[in-house]
Amino acid sequence: MTTNGTTTMNPPSEAVREHTGDSLFQRVQSTMERAAEVTGLSPAVRKILARPACEVSVTFPVRMDDGRVEMYTGYRVQHNNALGPFKGGIRYHPGVSIDEVRALAAWMTVKCALVDIPFGGAKGGVQFDPSNLSVPEIERLTRRFVYALGNNIGPDYDVPAPDVGTDARTMAWIVDTYAATLPPQDRHRALAVVTGKPVSAGGSVGREKATGQGVVDLIGLWARDEGLNLTDLTYTVQGFGKVGSWAARILKSLGATLLAVEDATGAVRAAGGLDADALAEHVRRTGGVAGFAGAQAIGHSEFFGIAADVFIPAALEDQVTAETASLLNVRLVAEGANGPTSPEGDAVLRERGIEVLPDILCNAGGVIVSYFEWVQNRGGAAWDAAEIDRRLHGILAKAYQRVKAVGQSKGVDWRTAAYAVALSRLEQVYVERGIFP
Ligand code: GLU
Repeated sequence: MTTNGTTTMNPPSEAVREHTGDSLFQRVQSTMERAAEVTGLSPAVRKILARPACEVSVTFPVRMDDGRVEMYTGYRVQHNNALGPFKGGIRYHPGVSIDEVRALAAWMTVKCALVDIPFGGAKGGVQFDPSNLSVPEIERLTRRFVYALGNNIGPDYDVPAPDVGTDARTMAWIVDTYAATLPPQDRHRALAVVTGKPVSAGGSVGREKATGQGVVDLIGLWARDEGLNLTDLTYTVQGFGKVGSWAARILKSLGATLLAVEDATGAVRAAGGLDADALAEHVRRTGGVAGFAGAQAIGHSEFFGIAADVFIPAALEDQVTAETASLLNVRLVAEGANGPTSPEGDAVLRERGIEVLPDILCNAGGVIVSYFEWVQNRGGAAWDAAEIDRRLHGILAKAYQRVKAVGQSKGVDWRTAAYAVALSRLEQVYVERGIFP
């Protein structure tokens, strides 16, 4: 059951950015409320999900390369664990705030419930720009953050993973630090404290590409229902990091055409299509898509206005706004990022008849393969790539069909239907177990 109560270990040392206007967490709640009406969700479950079960805020010192000491603030918000251990990534980004982490944690709860894996929802973050720190500085920051979190994470309790600004290497440092805090005879347990590790350090094959693979699997299911061939499909991508670049590379192998990409450095297009593998290599070398040979640089509005079948937002929140949604010239928005569409943007897409595969379904491939990694770690097993892909596709296809059926029977959009499926799953467990005492 949920561990009610708020643990504030240290007050944040610096002011955190709050979203102006309605908070991101309030928006998640509004979406939940809309779906709760559709399913007739019990008032008790509504109240439970309206607040995170536990919030940890830690402030810790990090020694920089030049000998200075800087203070950092890190968060871990544990939203709900009715279905299993808390689960969700750790984000390193200058825009991290307690409100954003709360929203991201709640999204993990509904995501895991929707695809029916035995995890709850959590998220962590530290507010800083990783491009301003050296690798040894990021390593020391990560290790101090994990040390400060202490027993607030653990293989049976709360299992972090990569998110924006973190990767497999970050996860390896977390395992190593967490293990060092355990007595020697317990250290073998440390492996399952995080997922998304390097394959050579206890990770799962297929985890790195998993979110992108899931986005492609979902686009494939939608395209089949629409009578579209992936070989004829055209698409654009925003964000060319772990999610966007993998989705594009997999779509390339299936014959689809990538027309344009935008990231923090700018936007590029090529009428004949961009080579996703060459672009990924360019981004690895230069840090962004700007300056990619053979492509034309374009502006933000032009990028959003490009005619294609599918747009994949795979960067940050709030990219599809009322303004950009009215520019979009696509049939489907496949949300690789968490929360890329604002409520106003959503309304414009609905009005214009543009379909949306919502984040909690469309980007669930990451946490599903995280679940496979966790199961393999605990059972001492190693599945091969074909096994991972087969199981991933099976779970996503089942969730897609369930969401589609609810959408049709209740006459609601994909997002509301996805939340309705997730909330019903969560309600079930509360009905079975009751509320203590
Ligand atoms: N950060 C990813 C997400 O937002 C993955 C989480 C995980 O694997 O636990 O879904």
